Amino acid sequence: MKALLLKLATCSLLIAGLAEIPAAQLRALIIDGQNNHNWKDTTPLLKQYLEETGLFDVTVATTPAKGGDMSGFQPNFPNFDVVVSNYSGDEWPDETKAAFENFVRDGGGFVTVHAADNSFGKWPAYNEMIGIGGWGGRNEKSGPYLYWDEKAKKVIKDITAGKGGSHGAQHEFMVEVREPQHPIVKGLPMKWLHAQDELYDRLRGPAKDVSVLATAFADPKTRGSGRHEPTLMTISYGKGRVFHTTLGHARDAKAPAFHCVGFITTLQRGTEWAATGKVTQAVPTDFPTAEKSSLRN
Ligand code: ZN
Repeated sequence: MKALLLKLATCSLLIAGLAEIPAAQLRALIIDGQNNHNWKDTTPLLKQYLEETGLFDVTVATTPAKGGDMSGFQPNFPNFDVVVSNYSGDEWPDETKAAFENFVRDGGGFVTVHAADNSFGKWPAYNEMIGIGGWGGRNEKSGPYLYWDEKAKKVIKDITAGKGGSHGAQHEFMVEVREPQHPIVKGLPMKWLHAQDELYDRLRGPAKDVSVLATAFADPKTRGSGRHEPTLMTISYGKGRVFHTTLGHARDAKAPAFHCVGFITTLQRGTEWAATGKVTQAVPTDFPTAEKSSLRN
């Protein structure tokens, strides 16, 4: 009897002990070091947003400055569950590119934030991963434009010639969910106001295996394309999952786009999804609505 009680006590201690062990953390790697945006200000925010979910252990890899010797930039990608790019700049060494391709193809997660989709216009695998991108010499040779046709209620690929990537004046704009059952946007309002940002339009690329989760209308009144442009996308590349957000223009740490609860929430959920294929995070109570944007300090 005594032995049984002891066993039971040991057993419950073990259970109590197990309950105290924190859930395994997802390992995220943020890449920065070059960007025509203020990466020094925004990387700490990206890191903070990921860490405050309690899901991620975040490491930052910073490349040399523009024109610097890139040969030593060789992150050990397989050490991570997901890579988040806040990078737009010089080409990486060929070995690093190959290692990154292998990482995503083998099932690694990748998240591209705002101008990260301006990078590497001539790197075919990267362009497949991001689906569509802008600037960096992109044009009809890069692939079609991709946008939401409101009449047909579906995503259209448009091979019309022209440059890839533009944006009008910064403003607050409505984001419209197009795939409400996707885990990243499930439970979000179908329309929500995003705080002042650049609305990327006319992006183009291979556009293979892209799901457009949300779009925003690039109003000609703010010098937009007049189309419903993809703002949140997922792309599959091999076994890997990619989350692409075009949101997040920032000159400094105070940029409204970076404090929009819509930006923060979709970044957190999109990064979890890219890492695991699932989203376990609840929609926060301060999420924006169709009537009102919502900023967090
Ligand atoms: Zn920008």
